Amino acid sequence: QVVLSPDYSFDNFISGPNNQLAYAAAVAVANQPGTAYNPLFIHGGVGLGKTHLLQAICQKIMEDRPDTQILYVSCDAFMNQFIECVQSGQMHEFRHRYRHVDVLVIDDIHFLANRERSQEEFFHTFNDLYQSNRQIVLSSDAAPSEIPHLEERLLSRFQWGLVANVTKPHYETRVAILRAKVKLRGIEMPDDVVGYIANKIDSNARELEGAITTIQAHAALQDQIIDLNLARTALGDSSGEPRTNQLTLQQIIDAVTDHYNVRLSDLQSRRRHKSVTEPRQVCMYLARKRTRFSLEEIGGYFGGRDHTTVMHSIRTVQDRLESDASFSRQLDQMDNAIQRSAD
Ligand code: ADP
Ligand code: MG
Repeated sequence: QVVLSPDYSFDNFISGPNNQLAYAAAVAVANQPGTAYNPLFIHGGVGLGKTHLLQAICQKIMEDRPDTQILYVSCDAFMNQFIECVQSGQMHEFRHRYRHVDVLVIDDIHFLANRERSQEEFFHTFNDLYQSNRQIVLSSDAAPSEIPHLEERLLSRFQWGLVANVTKPHYETRVAILRAKVKLRGIEMPDDVVGYIANKIDSNARELEGAITTIQAHAALQDQIIDLNLARTALGDSSGEPRTNQLTLQQIIDAVTDHYNVRLSDLQSRRRHKSVTEPRQVCMYLARKRTRFSLEEIGGYFGGRDHTTVMHSIRTVQDRLESDASFSRQLDQMDNAIQRSAD
């Protein structure tokens, strides 16, 4: 059973023209399960709030009517349990589990595509619940008619209730989503930064959250407050900034590989021996200090490491600089060599 995220509540959901119908229908279903819209089918692209709405429905019903039997599962879980129960001869338990609930919520139902036996089982589950006025809520990355190889009878049932689409948020909605997320995290973000992100990222709420995370990480790493400048750098966008004397990663790598007598290919490899991790970490540290490359770009250059790894490397170097005088002197030497090569 999936654990619901308390943050995925109606209170924390921002409604806008892009999701108005889905939101209103979700609220209606939560207030009157089994009578408002049955089934409720919410579809749309990734990161647009489908899971959030499904979980909000469950939590609201649990609050208002604690006696209600709710089952919230991913379609994957439904199919896996089905297969397991078939194999272990426990279909009776499976059917009991799925057909004795008041509310059945299945996330990402499009995974039923091409799965004939699961579709068949779901068809019977659906009928059972529907006939006794139990609420069914489904989400999908595609409209019912766009799910490949979906049985006609299921396609038709998906359209018996309400089919609601969620689309990309408009600028104002993006601003509102950003403000809500910033508030949830308890961080300060000036309006110009919020506007900047909302302008730059127009895809979905998940990516807006990703941008907040990246900016937050940069602020923590550099021990700075969040301002427009920091946000631009964090999102790898330094237009308008003077780019004079921009060092290249190559100059940094030359100095560090010289010093440690290692090869670039070692630094880019997955090897974790100290003889390569130390120069790799130093490279990342100096790249961060001396260039405008983003954490992602730096990580990408050194063997496709993600930004948290880069952050960790930089922290490791910073910590050691404070406690290890000889290391600190070596780093100065490399840094000086880099500065000289730039002049
Ligand atoms: P989906 O299931 O459609 O891929 P999610 O529900 O997982 O998307 O949403 C991704 C993230 O974006 C979640 O953290 C969610 O809280 C947030 N989110 C999406 N839409 C909204 C919205 N309208 N208001 C607030 N947060 C949203
Ligand atoms: Mg989802």
